[in-house]
Amino acid sequence: MSAPSSIDWQQRARQLTVDVRPIIDGERVDVRIDGRGDMHGGERGEVGEGRFDSVNPHDGRVVASLASCGEADVDAAVLSARRTFEQGTWSRISAHERSRTLLRFADEIERHQEELALLDSLEMGMPISSALPDVALAARIVRSTAERLDKLSEQVLPSAAHTLALNLRVPHGVVAAITPWNFPLYVALGKIVPALGMGNSVVLKPSEIASLSCLRLGDLAMAAGLPAGALNVLPGLGRETGRLLALHNDVDCLSFTGSTTTGRVLMQYAGQSNLKALLLECGGKSPQLVFDDLGDLDAVAESLVQGFVWNCGQVCVAGTRILVTRALYAPLLQRLSALVESQRGGDPLQPSTVLGPLANRVQLERVGAMVDAARRDGATIVAGGARDTAAGGCHYRPTLIADLPHAHVFMQEEIFGPVAGILPFDGVEQALQLANDSRYGLSATLWTRDVALAHGLVRRVRGGPVTVNAVASPGPGHVSGSSVEPAGASGFGAEGGTAGLMAYTRAKSVHYRLG
Ligand code: NAD
Repeated sequence: MSAPSSIDWQQRARQLTVDVRPIIDGERVDVRIDGRGDMHGGERGEVGEGRFDSVNPHDGRVVASLASCGEADVDAAVLSARRTFEQGTWSRISAHERSRTLLRFADEIERHQEELALLDSLEMGMPISSALPDVALAARIVRSTAERLDKLSEQVLPSAAHTLALNLRVPHGVVAAITPWNFPLYVALGKIVPALGMGNSVVLKPSEIASLSCLRLGDLAMAAGLPAGALNVLPGLGRETGRLLALHNDVDCLSFTGSTTTGRVLMQYAGQSNLKALLLECGGKSPQLVFDDLGDLDAVAESLVQGFVWNCGQVCVAGTRILVTRALYAPLLQRLSALVESQRGGDPLQPSTVLGPLANRVQLERVGAMVDAARRDGATIVAGGARDTAAGGCHYRPTLIADLPHAHVFMQEEIFGPVAGILPFDGVEQALQLANDSRYGLSATLWTRDVALAHGLVRRVRGGPVTVNAVASPGPGHVSGSSVEPAGASGFGAEGGTAGLMAYTRAKSVHYRLG
């Protein structure tokens, strides 16, 4: 769905009222201020005294000022989640009943699609033309996940005539979900729906950069009939609210999406507390491999660019290492240069805008610093390479960089902006060796019409989702039930499909002696 041009989004933004209070035990409540340490100004809009602002990265205006949830709030939310879990009003009802509630939740999300898209767009700069289909896709994934719930089965094991042996799956209990800002609503739903679907209670802490759509999700889940305490939403800073949740001894499972750096810290917190189960979806530096036998080189060039510029490059599966067979390197570079140079950023609330700003100043500075370092080290800036001063705000021009060794930090580190490096390769084995020469293992894209070549590589190239001849995006696959699991510094734990549901359960077996 593209953004309806009849809507005046600026006016909608001006009329918007937001409720920034957390949702605990089925209600909007005020943040408790007792026992809070002072928070001092920091990188992520923190304004001191346990408060933070979310700031529109296009025009620098404060969208909302929020209080960061502290220990008393975290304890209350976890207690509420635990109580609801033990009461069984959600955890022990039938899968069919849970499915019906989650289907109503999907209806509510669709009914509020424009408001939810507007909130994400205002807080992190995603163009409204992308935010609307993003919410629509998320609602479809909620629906397809809900529809899968009452079709799952458990196992009867072979056993002697007078015994019965079963393999069962049971929910973890209380699941904490800590999520990033790049697709605020989409990523949160990708955690809370499978967790709830399998009977867990959830405490969600969205990113401090974009919390508002997640808070509205809490309202909508209640409107759909979720019992109080099954979904609590706590806005807050990572090193405060997130840390408290990750260290909490009554959280059974922590599902995290975010940077590898934070993922490592959360592993320590799990070890320091109750050894809670972990699901970590972290960063990536994914390859796009371009082989000889392509059809329309212009079309491939367009998709390659989309693969690293979409959502201003703030996509975990962005294809930011473009590896090209030597025969096509020069003609492709020429096309890519023109295409990347032609990308223009604009106001996210204009329905015609396709490229928005980076999400905040920290991202802007990080992207600029990485490009400057590559330039200093002798790279060729094929296109872009600077801030987009015409668009203003946190806009950065899409950038393509050549002539760097693959070992260079620009080719190895996740940058999270509309920037990519390009290198030639000689032969399939070198292509594979370069593709897998990364500490990450999130996703990979192959461009070839040779099906035998592609299928021969699918199992060997590192990455959960492998996409052939299309722009990488796990979303549509999740609608139809595909499951992915990262490798290396990209984390662990399955997402999507049946494996993604099972990740929110643990295995249990039972043996009966009959008669
Ligand atoms: P981040 O790690 O800075 O923050 C993610 C979340 O963790 C936020 O809610 C933050 O408040 C919280 N957090 C930060 N420090 C914490 C701490 N010490 N304890 C507890 N919680 C803490 O990541 P980000 O900048 O918000 O998001 C961008 C990152 O997310 C990129 O690395 C991107 O690749 C990754 N990402 C991965 C996937 C995936 O599926 N693998 C999807 C989307 C984004």
